[in-house]
Amino acid sequence: MTSSSTEPTPAAAPGPPPGAGDDAFLSVRDLYVHFHTEDGTVKAVDGLSFDLPRGRTLGIVGESGSGKSVTNLAVLGLHDPRHTTVRGHIRLAGQELTGAPERTLEKLRGNTMAMIFQDSLTALSPYYTVGRQIAEPYRKHTGASRREARRRAVEMLAKVGIPEAGRRVDDYPHQFSGGMRQRAMIAMALVNNPDLLIADEPTTALDVTVQAQILDLLQDLQREFGSAIILITHDLGVVAEVADDLLVMYAGRAVERGPVREVLREPRHPYTWGLLDSMPRLTGAPDAPLTPIPGAPPSLLSPPAGCPFHPRCAFTAEAGPDRCAGERPSLPPEPSAGGRGAACHLTAEQRRNLRRSR
Ligand code: SF4
Repeated sequence: MTSSSTEPTPAAAPGPPPGAGDDAFLSVRDLYVHFHTEDGTVKAVDGLSFDLPRGRTLGIVGESGSGKSVTNLAVLGLHDPRHTTVRGHIRLAGQELTGAPERTLEKLRGNTMAMIFQDSLTALSPYYTVGRQIAEPYRKHTGASRREARRRAVEMLAKVGIPEAGRRVDDYPHQFSGGMRQRAMIAMALVNNPDLLIADEPTTALDVTVQAQILDLLQDLQREFGSAIILITHDLGVVAEVADDLLVMYAGRAVERGPVREVLREPRHPYTWGLLDSMPRLTGAPDAPLTPIPGAPPSLLSPPAGCPFHPRCAFTAEAGPDRCAGERPSLPPEPSAGGRGAACHLTAEQRRNLRRSR
């Protein structure tokens, strides 16, 4: 994991992090990821907590720069310690990862936890066959022979729906279509039956039909292996299809969380309202005009005081402009899976009235 260049990084905590859910396979508490740049400190993740049990899928949504991918790179221990401070607790199956030695994290990556990236072309090397790239992590973690590992690669390619897997295993990535490469990358990620799978925009580059196939595949594989999945996306439609729980991030913080159906049916945070209003598939009539969220996400070099969404929020008058600009709203302390909450100063009654009048 990471260490600090300018700020102290606490040593790995020996006991459970405060408030960790008992049944959480992955428990993140008070996570801060700060990048030290020439222009100053970028607070990419700024106090994030969530739990994820086995066999469940957590969708993390938010605009670019909201901290979704940075959070998950921290879980995998992939930030450069020379420029990054990671503080807080990341606990996987009882093991504290923050401050853990690189050799421990390297052993966990590709074995206990694995990642599917958005762009299969950058994740797969053009110089090696697809089969070799699936077989190598298997050999590394199991000590299997080349023959056994090749057999496993064929098995995994067949499992992810590559036709004639026994023949295609010797193809190079450029001989695969975009959808097939994405499947091959999923096969590579799943070859050691990871308990935690992190999928970062796994279907963004694919057409709608292939996207649906890949999402079905992830769900099938989760049923088979019982993995916990984090699905990072900007697409609430994708989340609605496959996630159990939803975490909405803005400016490096969680602004809303809860079971995905509840959040989509009755969103509580004005930012979530904005995300939903900008998506035709989830707002009723397919030809309804889209309403983009005005303005742009804040600079994380100097995020706004108070609620980070207040410069773009249309409801500060109801919540109290001074309060929105001066007091940071907190998310109720229920990070366990299924816990419901929104970081907003609006009262429940104000929210109901505003939603009804929109
Ligand atoms: Fe809008 Fe204020 Fe709620 Fe932030 S706290 S989302 S600015 S109403």
